[in-house]
Amino acid sequence: MSRDRKRVDVLVLGAGAAGLAAARDLSHAGLHVTVIEARPRVGGRVFTVHDPRSPVPLELGAEFIHGESAETLPLARAAGLAVLELPVSHDFASAGRFKPMGDFWRLVDRMNHDLARRLAARGKDFPVSEYLDSRRVPAASRGLLRDFVQGFYAAHPDRLSAQSLAVETTEGDEEDEVEGKQFRIANGGDALMKWLRDGLDPDRTEVRLSTVAESVQWKRGAVTVVCRGGADRARLPTLSARTMLITLPLAVLKAGMVRFDPALPPPKQRALAGIETGQVFKIVLRFREAFWEEPEFLRERRAKAGSKGLSFLHAHGAEVPTWWTSLPVRAPVLTGYVGAVAAEQLLAEEPPSRLERSLVALSEVFAVPRRELEEQLDASATHDWRADPFARGAYSYIGVGGNDAPRALARPVDGTLFFAGEATNGAEIGTVAGALSSGRRAAREVLRVLK
Ligand SMILES: Cc1cc2nc3c(=O)[nH]c(=O)nc-3n(C[C@H](O)[C@H](O)[C@H](O)COP(=O)(O)OP(=O)(O)OC[C@H]3O[C@@H](n4cnc5c(N)ncnc54)[C@H](O)[C@@H]3O)c2cc1C
Repeated sequence: MSRDRKRVDVLVLGAGAAGLAAARDLSHAGLHVTVIEARPRVGGRVFTVHDPRSPVPLELGAEFIHGESAETLPLARAAGLAVLELPVSHDFASAGRFKPMGDFWRLVDRMNHDLARRLAARGKDFPVSEYLDSRRVPAASRGLLRDFVQGFYAAHPDRLSAQSLAVETTEGDEEDEVEGKQFRIANGGDALMKWLRDGLDPDRTEVRLSTVAESVQWKRGAVTVVCRGGADRARLPTLSARTMLITLPLAVLKAGMVRFDPALPPPKQRALAGIETGQVFKIVLRFREAFWEEPEFLRERRAKAGSKGLSFLHAHGAEVPTWWTSLPVRAPVLTGYVGAVAAEQLLAEEPPSRLERSLVALSEVFAVPRRELEEQLDASATHDWRADPFARGAYSYIGVGGNDAPRALARPVDGTLFFAGEATNGAEIGTVAGALSSGRRAAREVLRVLK
């Protein structure tokens, strides 16, 4: 029997954070695993560009590790990677003035508690936009909260589940700050993905890159998958296994890019419908100099001259409203970020127009003439995740009434099809941490069946 015809224990579909974490645990537990990955690289939506002219790696996909308890931080430490804690410094920019946004986190916190109260009173889920449009939200804060929901969750407020954000108030926690610690992997997020891949047991694992799964035939205890590969997208020999672990992005599954025969059962279709795909436009700009680090720059814009450098800037009304620097590493790199409605509008433009509009937005936010920015600009990098056939979007959020959908999506089918990926993790949806822990959870489920 040729190697291609060999039946392994598990076929893992997708070599992103979820697929790699799962394959690692499965292979270490003694199972034979083949990972099928459409791209010529591992990592999926963790996509780091190493530009020899940039002192920092450029992250076109995931960048931040949110919070200390996340799955990512312990793994990054185990991998011996340098993890940098970001300075907690957020400024609002308006009319060329920067103001610390300390109170804003209280506003977000209040929103989450208010949503829980409304939910208890109503007894059923509702869109977050209803709260944002209500009188409970001061008119002056409405736009900022809308920006936050669209930027952070990449969500349309009229589709985002209130229940998914609601935080029950327990005595004394009303003043909790939602803003947690944030970290970045100094060598780039791809270093963690590489570490996961390098840690796969070589005797029991095979990673097939540039291999696009097209259709899956399955019955209890047996799965075969038809793939295409190479420049000519030629059909590759069929792969087979006892089980399959599916980590395809939500939007790829929803669009039916991989056909299942028989089709995934109705509860899976309902689960898919309960989760939404968020869109993001992220652009990294490399300048000749970090002109925003000049003492004069901040002195002219901040009322109180503090020692803190510029880290995150938020401006309501700009087409690209959120910008950040590479602090704590000093580098002439700025990143612009916008989610949901405004991102979709920008992604509908041709690439040169996206760059042009980003420069106009930055010029507005920084109060620096656009021409000067252009003179300073050395290079830019961005990735269109919406047009990417192997992602079809940035990350997931829970739709109205969809709170049980991630769990339903995660549930195994007939002890044969298993599911992981950020969209299957309701508590940490839309994150690398969520993807990693979903992969490990699914690996445990497979092991319960096969071991
Ligand atoms: C712009 C942007 C910014 C982000 N910022 C952050 C952040 O700061 N912090 C954070 O925690 N998260 C962030 N995220 C989200 C994070 O990247 C994802 O939640 C996480 O990487 C998803 O991992 P996954 O394994 O679930 O999916 P993926 O990484 O998408 O892995 C799925 C894999 O399946 C493959 N695939 C698709 N179709 C096929 C097919 N037909 N055949 C074979 N393989 C296929 C894909 O190529 C991919 O490698 C960001 C995402 C984006 C896009």
